[in-house]
This record gives sequence, structure tokens and C-alpha cells, in this order.
Amino acid sequence: TITVGVLALQGGVVEHLNLLRRATAHVQSPDSLRFTFAEVRTAPQLAQCDALIIPGGESTTMAIVARRLGLLDPLREFVKVQHKAVWGTCAGLVMLAEEAVATKQGGQEQIGGLDVRVLRNRYGTQMQSFVANLDLAFLGEGEEPFRAVFIRAPVVEEVISDGGSGSQKQAGKVEVLGVCQVPGQQTEGEGKGDIVAVRQGNVFGTSFHPELTDDVRIHVWWLGQVADALRHGRLAVDGV
Ligand code: GLN
Repeated sequence: TITVGVLALQGGVVEHLNLLRRATAHVQSPDSLRFTFAEVRTAPQLAQCDALIIPGGESTTMAIVARRLGLLDPLREFVKVQHKAVWGTCAGLVMLAEEAVATKQGGQEQIGGLDVRVLRNRYGTQMQSFVANLDLAFLGEGEEPFRAVFIRAPVVEEVISDGGSGSQKQAGKVEVLGVCQVPGQQTEGEGKGDIVAVRQGNVFGTSFHPELTDDVRIHVWWLGQVADALRHGRLAVDGV
């Protein structure tokens, strides 16, 4: 059994659990393979997990609560020492970035694991939320675009390392898996846009919220990655 946790300190926990449960029917895996899903609020619960989702919500709040519950270091260990699979959506992406730039004053603690700097609230306030069609190559050729929901979303401003040397560095390079052409905004040219989906080894992050849609494709893909990684004893870091 593969145990997938959803960090349940704050944010869109139930939405992820619902979509995860629906996604399991579509994951290509041997019959022997089964998933169970669990809310994670304590270090012992985290230790039970093979993989973890960090939902959207408010990353400053999430970090404060995680610190109070003594979860920050276990989470760092999960991601950077045990190299277990983890996926952050929106605020979860902020938590997984090594660096975050806020539009307002005030930093926060993070888990890290992705060698990127994110810009929080890139598109402004809740009122400026939008939906954009993304072509996500990892979902397969000729697939319909993914209707991605952006709510006070962060974007990856810069890849800050190529997984180079140094004890704190993550294994593998940062792969850009998705870019967004913002509706009504000037972009820098063909194929350019904001980086809204990245992966580095075991760590996956999206600026948007698949859990707020009916589209199970990214959950299915990610669960497939998790299952493969556990079967082969590693996470695939090769191209998409
Ligand atoms: N703006 C939030 C943050 O920086 C993220 C918003 C979201 O998760 N929808 O944490």
C-alpha cells in the first residue's frame, strides 16, 4: 500500500483528498498496488507517508502553524533527506521553494527542496483570480489544455541553481513543466510566459489549483510518478 498524505494545517485539504480518491481509478499500476490517503498534522502521521501534497491556502499561516507543531524540520527531512515525493500547489509551491519574494513586507519560513525563487501573489489579489488554458506536455501529446485556476498565485521567478554542488543542494535539475501566457498581459514572445509548474527530482510544484477543478489528470500523472518511483526505488528525473 502506498500512503499519500495531505498536509492538513490550513487550506484546500479536502479538495485534494477528493480528487486523489477519484484519480486512483485512472492510475496505471499493477493490481497489487493500492493507495491510501491521510490528513497529516503530526510528525508521526508524516512518517507513515510515502508521498505528500501541500495544498493551496496561505503559506505564511501554514509555516507558522507548522513551526508551532514542530513539523517544519520533519517536513524538511521528508523532502530533502528522505527524498520522498512531494507536490505543492500554490501556497504549497511557496513552501517548497528555497526562496520566496513577497509583494508585501515580511518573510516566512519554508520547507525548501526546489532550487527556485518564487514571487508570491504575482497576479495581485483574490479579485484578480483567473483561469488559463495550459499545455502540459507531461499529460501526453494531443491532450486537451488544462484549465488552470490561479488564485493569488505565486510564479517561479528564477531557477537559482542547477542542482550543483553543496550539501544543501537537491539532486537533479529544475525542470520547467508548464508556462502560462497570462490572459490580457503582454508576454515576452512566442513560447514565453510565467513558469507555473516545475519539478526537481522528488519535488513537484504548481502555481495553480488542480484540486479546484474536476480534472483529475495531474493527480493521476503524479500518483503514477509516485507509484513508479516506489517500484523502482527512485523518482524519475528524466525528461517529460
Ligand atoms: N498567496 C498565497 C501565498 O502566498 C497562496 C494563495 C493560494 O494558495 N491560493 O501563500
